[in-house]
Amino acid sequence: MKLLVTGGAGFIGSHIVDGEVARGSEVVVVDNLSTGKKENLGSDVPFYCVDICNRDEIFRVFREFRPEVVSHQAAQASVSISVKDPYGDAMVNVMGTLNVLEACREFGVKHFVFASTGGAIYGEVPENSKASEEWTLNPKSPYAVAKASVEHYLRVYRHNYGLSYTILRYANVYGPRQDPYGEAGVVAIFCERILRGLEVTVYARRSVGDEGCIRDYVYVGDVEKAHSLAVRGRLLGVFNVSTGKGTTTRRLLELISSIAGKKPGVLFAPPRPGDLEVSILDNSKISSYVDGWTELEDGIRKTVEWFSRSLG
Ligand code: NAD
Repeated sequence: MKLLVTGGAGFIGSHIVDGEVARGSEVVVVDNLSTGKKENLGSDVPFYCVDICNRDEIFRVFREFRPEVVSHQAAQASVSISVKDPYGDAMVNVMGTLNVLEACREFGVKHFVFASTGGAIYGEVPENSKASEEWTLNPKSPYAVAKASVEHYLRVYRHNYGLSYTILRYANVYGPRQDPYGEAGVVAIFCERILRGLEVTVYARRSVGDEGCIRDYVYVGDVEKAHSLAVRGRLLGVFNVSTGKGTTTRRLLELISSIAGKKPGVLFAPPRPGDLEVSILDNSKISSYVDGWTELEDGIRKTVEWFSRSLG
């Protein structure tokens, strides 16, 4: 398979690239390295340092490589940045994506896999329920609006030009290589700070000192497995990629600190504006294709080990 991965130097994209190279796919990566790192990629993976907002350059890459399948992972991936700069977010996440979709149309790409968000697209998930793919979309941030808008474009591209697609709505993905210095990615932030002996902040769900928000944490290796089915056209349409289990921020902190064997100082802070209180996704649709999900404790152990090796 000739696979082009946008955002392939990023956290999730680089795991996708590793998995597909190991399966013998012919892979190229397009990434502008705004948050991704060249070191995340094997030295023999063809790499184009190109911004998806540059339509001519994107068309040049497609003309040279002629991908059969495109995995679109590149994005401005921070909800809080999208709140501060909705225009910049839309330029990359909507207009940049349209450049990639137009190139797919021009060069006859057969299948498109899109990294959407299950964690943000459904809005607040009421207590004791899980958001399923059929739920009405209820974006609460410019980031989620942009992801929802691309999902609509994909329906239009399939209808008008026959481009088949898989939309993967990721929950909160964690694992090795996640950036601990960004504004999201609490697992990476906690791992890095706890291992360095630094204080960590727990943002409240409602009032300072409570258990914190509830999230559905999915291991990046499981995301990569689901993605491998998607690029082969074995998953068509829309799928949540999640464990279906909720974990509070404080529980997560306890788990990371017990696995790391270090007890950090904890600062309890008020809720962060724009944070959803609860987000848990129903994974029954995808679970009939993927065998089993990594238990949080096992995934956290692998992640702590990776951070401890990379911190030296
Ligand atoms: P990441 O920031 O590590 O990866 C994004 C990659 O896209 C980076 O390598 C970055 O350099 C690249 N990129 C950004 N803007 C670009 C541009 N204009 N042109 C070319 N490349 C560009 O983030 P991630 O967590 O690996 O996210 C991958 C995808 O998954 C994103 O689309 C994100 O919105 C989506 N997603 C992530 C999560 C999560 O929990 N991490 C959850 C839901 C959805």
